[in-house]
Amino acid sequence: MNNVRNQYYDAEGNNVRPIIVNVGNLPEYLSADDVQTTFHEFGHALHGLLAQSHYQSVSGTSVKRDFVEMFSQFNENWAFQPELLARYAVNAEGQVIPQELVSKIISALKFNQGFMTTELTAASILDMKWHELSAIPAEAYDDPSAWIDGFETAVCDEMGLISQIIPRYRTTYFNHIFSSGYCAGYYGYLWAEVLDKDAFSLFEASPNGVWNLELAKKFKETFLEKGGSEEPMVLYKEFMGREPDSDAMLRARGLK
Ligand SMILES: [Zn+2]
Repeated sequence: MNNVRNQYYDAEGNNVRPIIVNVGNLPEYLSADDVQTTFHEFGHALHGLLAQSHYQSVSGTSVKRDFVEMFSQFNENWAFQPELLARYAVNAEGQVIPQELVSKIISALKFNQGFMTTELTAASILDMKWHELSAIPAEAYDDPSAWIDGFETAVCDEMGLISQIIPRYRTTYFNHIFSSGYCAGYYGYLWAEVLDKDAFSLFEASPNGVWNLELAKKFKETFLEKGGSEEPMVLYKEFMGREPDSDAMLRARGLK
């Protein structure tokens, strides 16, 4: 998603609407992964499009980094809902994708999640440990690679990581944190998943199913319209009535 212009109110009080674009280079037949990416980016787009903030700097997706992916990942939850599949997952003969196949896709998404969740968590902790350092000791400059390896091993030992699993990214090629601005923020992906799965669990638990217009309206008004104009936890508690709970995320990954 790209925001050419964020929504804002100008000096005359006019609500200047946003200009949001999603550009994708997709094959004619979408894989499950392509479908998820499309829903993901559309989630960001909705965040930008539905904004109702006063200032452009806190409008739409201009929120804290560990909050922004909640809305794109939240939108992914709709991709494999049977009612929605019937509207878009249709083959050339007009047949809707069989539920049996969808169940297999959903099961496959849970494959190896114990490993994946651990390597992600390990990378998040490693990132934080690097950013907790206030200085690099002089002896590190004698043999930097040995010192970096030693630091990483000590961090992994401290978190009790088993030898079969290493952090998702080793320090020397952990691009996200050293050159992409995710300094001490790599955990944001997993944290956003705690938030999006927890929020979606309200829709799943709703008596009239996930197509709950009233709840959707509350989601739009509490989160999407507010953007970064309020603290994420304040908005979250307003929507959920409580602080986040990681249970729904663990269930979605097949870990609970
Ligand atoms: Zn995203």
